[in-house]
Amino acid sequence: MRNTKHKLFHDKSLRHLHDELNICGVVRNHFIALCMRYYRRYGKGLSYAKMSAHLTKLKKLEKYQHWNIPYSWALQNVLKRLAQSFSEMKTLGRGHPQFKSCKKHKGMTFRGNQVKFEYLLPKQKNQRNHATFQIRLNGRWYRFAEHRPVEGKIVEVQVTRDAIGDVYITLTEECKEVKPEPKTGKAEGFDMGIKDFLTGSDGERYTSPMFYKQNADKLAKAQQVHSRKVKGSNNRERERKNVARIHKKTENQRTDHHWKLAIELCKKFDILFFEDLNLDGNLKRLFGKQVSDLAFGEFMLKLKHQATKRLKRVYTINRWTPTTKCCSVCGHKNGTLTLADREWRCPKCNTHLDRDHNAAMNILKEGVASFGLGEIRPIVLLGKIVGISVEASSSLLHSTNAFA
Ligand SMILES: [Zn+2]
Repeated sequence: MRNTKHKLFHDKSLRHLHDELNICGVVRNHFIALCMRYYRRYGKGLSYAKMSAHLTKLKKLEKYQHWNIPYSWALQNVLKRLAQSFSEMKTLGRGHPQFKSCKKHKGMTFRGNQVKFEYLLPKQKNQRNHATFQIRLNGRWYRFAEHRPVEGKIVEVQVTRDAIGDVYITLTEECKEVKPEPKTGKAEGFDMGIKDFLTGSDGERYTSPMFYKQNADKLAKAQQVHSRKVKGSNNRERERKNVARIHKKTENQRTDHHWKLAIELCKKFDILFFEDLNLDGNLKRLFGKQVSDLAFGEFMLKLKHQATKRLKRVYTINRWTPTTKCCSVCGHKNGTLTLADREWRCPKCNTHLDRDHNAAMNILKEGVASFGLGEIRPIVLLGKIVGISVEASSSLLHSTNAFA
């Protein structure tokens, strides 16, 4: 499976899509209310089959004539998801699905065979960088620039809109995306941190540009202007979009940086070891905004995607393995280490250790050992770690200078 996201052009016809999404939102709210009434009386949610039958009945009434406008499959999909959430209420101990303003309803789904594609011949005057295609959704054509060519059979089409009012389509294709990268014979452990985004076991640091922080002043200003406008006015709506645009920009910048870093790491190393993600409560409370600005979880998803695409491996080691407090050279455990100590000297073997580098080294050591790839040992020269010696048992790391 492969997903590509394309932005639809801001044509006049786009308002029809917005209308359909609004109706999806209204139907969702209607059925949440219905399910909750049912739930209060019988102690369980309505099944999808019952809801679907009820929807068909309602659509025939004069009052709900407009519910026939969106593609019926898209509405049924809304109900399917609702039924799912209501059934998960008890099993997962969640609350009931929340009512949402219909304008905030974000998505609609089509099956691959329910849409049509057509290539639009470029007019000579305004030629674009990418081929212009049009997609037929529920009887209307919408144009988009195909910046990633579709290769496989399209299984599903997701229509989503954001707070600015842009509409995107996500095409899910049936194709395997493989782009093998030449093997480098290198493995690396990584420590995640607040100060440096990643620290490699070879001592290299990858910092994050902290985009939220960069745009914070701009955002504060825009939010202030927004809050001063009269509620319900056009001016306020314009400023709301302005705020949303800054959020979107931050998100885009971060995503772009994540992809680029993930590709860079996949090109450099064959095997990458990480710690199982556990941002303990303390860290999150102290550095809440910074932690969400770094977005470790999102980065890991992207990295794993790139690794499978480029035939590299990403492993995560057990989160209970002590990595920060142990000396990577002799294994001595330093119990007095606090969060503020960036560097320390091991009392047993007298090695000068950098906190993040030491943790990364421990992660690599633990990873290589626990996945049966061999054994590594840091090389110490004049009380400092200068390299790694390796005894590889895996064919993957056959070359002697694998960790050079
Ligand atoms: Zn030591």
